[in-house]
Parts: sequence; C-alpha cells; structure tokens
Amino acid sequence: MRQEKGIDWPSSIVVCEVGPRDGLQNEKKLFSVEQKVELIERSVHAGAKIIEIGSFVHPKAVPQMADTDEVAKRIKRVEGVEYRALVMNMKGLERALAAGIRKTKLTVSASRSHCLANMNRTPEEVVAGFGEFAEFTAKHGIELSGGIATSFGCPFEGRVPLEQLVSVISGFKKIGVKEVSISDTTGMANPRQVYEYGVHVRKLFPDMKWILHFHDTRGMGLANVVAGMLAGIDRFDSCFAGLGGCPFAPGATGNIATEDLVHMCHEMGISTGMDLDEVISLARSVKEIIGHDTSGFILRAGKCSDIVAPPKKDGKEAS
Ligand code: ZN
Repeated sequence: MRQEKGIDWPSSIVVCEVGPRDGLQNEKKLFSVEQKVELIERSVHAGAKIIEIGSFVHPKAVPQMADTDEVAKRIKRVEGVEYRALVMNMKGLERALAAGIRKTKLTVSASRSHCLANMNRTPEEVVAGFGEFAEFTAKHGIELSGGIATSFGCPFEGRVPLEQLVSVISGFKKIGVKEVSISDTTGMANPRQVYEYGVHVRKLFPDMKWILHFHDTRGMGLANVVAGMLAGIDRFDSCFAGLGGCPFAPGATGNIATEDLVHMCHEMGISTGMDLDEVISLARSVKEIIGHDTSGFILRAGKCSDIVAPPKKDGKEAS
C-alpha cells in the first residue's frame, strides 16, 4: 500500500475479464467457437490472469453460451491463468468437469425477486442446495467460488440491505467457499455504499477473497471501483468494450469496460499487469464483430496519453 495524504491506494489490482461470458451472453449476435477462443487467447496475451470463459447453463436459456464445452476444450491454456466458468446446476458442473474447467463460479442473487426471476428459487432455497455442489467439486478437485448477483440493489426491490448480502456470504462460507464475487448486476450501487459494504464484509469475513463486479448502467461503475479499492478490495471484473448486462434484469446494460478500467488504473499509477494497447485493440475487434456502439469510453475518446492536435485558432476556448 502506498501512503498518500492518508489514502491507501493499492499498488496493483487484478483485472478479471468476464467478456466471454457476461459480455457475449447479452449480444444478439452469436459468436463462433473460433471467435470466442480467439478473444480469450488475445485477452490472456494482453495480460489477463483471470478470465471467465463462459457458462454451463441450459442452451435454450442462454443460446450464446451453448458451446462453452467446445470453447473450454479448444483454448490453449497458459500456466498461471485462471479459466473460470459459471455454473447453475449439477448438470453444468458435470459439463465443466468434462471440459477440463478447474474453477467454477456458482451464482445466486442476494435479492429475493431477482433470484426468483433468474433461477426460479428463493435465495434460501438456492443456499440450501449449495452443499451438493461443494461435495462434487471437492471430490473432483475443482475450485468453487461464489458469485452474488444484485448485491447492492435490485430493480424489483430497490436497495439490498447489507444483512441480506451478509447472509448469502455466510451460506457460501459454510460450504467452504473461499472466494466471493460481489456483483452489482443492475448498476445500482453507489460509491459510498460500495465502500461501506466492502469495509464491513472484509471485517466480518477476514479470510475471504473478494472480487467486485460492476455494471456502468448509471455511470457509477468506475467510481465504484475506486470506492472498492479504498475499502481494501483489489480484484475487479470487467468486460472488453463494455458489453454485457443481464437478460433477466431490465435495462442492465454494460459492464465496466476493461480498457477503461486498465486506463484509469495506469493513469493513477496502479499496475494491472495488462498491456493497455493490446486491451484497446481487442476491444476494437469485439466492437467490429458485434457491429454496434458500446458503452466503453476509451474506444470513443482515446487514451489521455494520446497525442492530440492543438485546437484550431478560432478564438474559442475549450471548456
Ligand atoms: Zn454482470
């Protein structure tokens, strides 16, 4: 930690690329296995150490993820990189195992209504089923991490109370989960809340590893990252070109863009281990394939360090 006027900024953070899953699952366009493999390999080449390659869910529910098995089998694995995948049920876990996945993420919503809309069960019912997953993963040497959707706010219920989040984290802890992703699925978290929830859960569960996952739906994504850093959390999910959303949460578009996150950190003197130019070039390729605009800023504005032409002398001051 570097001391600066009383603020403990992290010297580095870890970027977890969730584009192949959270980004692509919300696009109308279906990506081929080859395209997905290429995006994953380029992201790792750009420096990503954690990458969410897809999800093992029912192909009818999320057709964009129907070929995750094939993608997992084809990617050239790089030593030291964590290739994680999302699972929803036992069948998904079995598919992940068969495809050689060693790290799975089990997701539940902290909000009761979102959970019912997303998984057809209450959070309590989902938590009750956690044990079965833990036994399976322990037996097969797969690491199981927990993901909590709508951790801060939910479009159906509003602000999610801290106690509700804490109760879901406790459920994960009980079955031996050592890493939890706290997700603001619908872009409702604000920086003050992120700081308060972050400080609190770190105090309550000192041995847990944390990842924060923000959507920029209401423009608070990067501010929330900063609040998370100040709360002492140093791992953040992001998505190339800022794609993403949640098919079950109305209006929940746009993960924070990886290129924006990396750019901000580098401007702040916080290292990410990623090559920003390669990250930007990857985001451009993604944008070309999907063929529409995305919510990323750097793709539109360029880097702060780009040399810009001096303003024309028309007498007007830039403001
Ligand atoms: Zn998400």
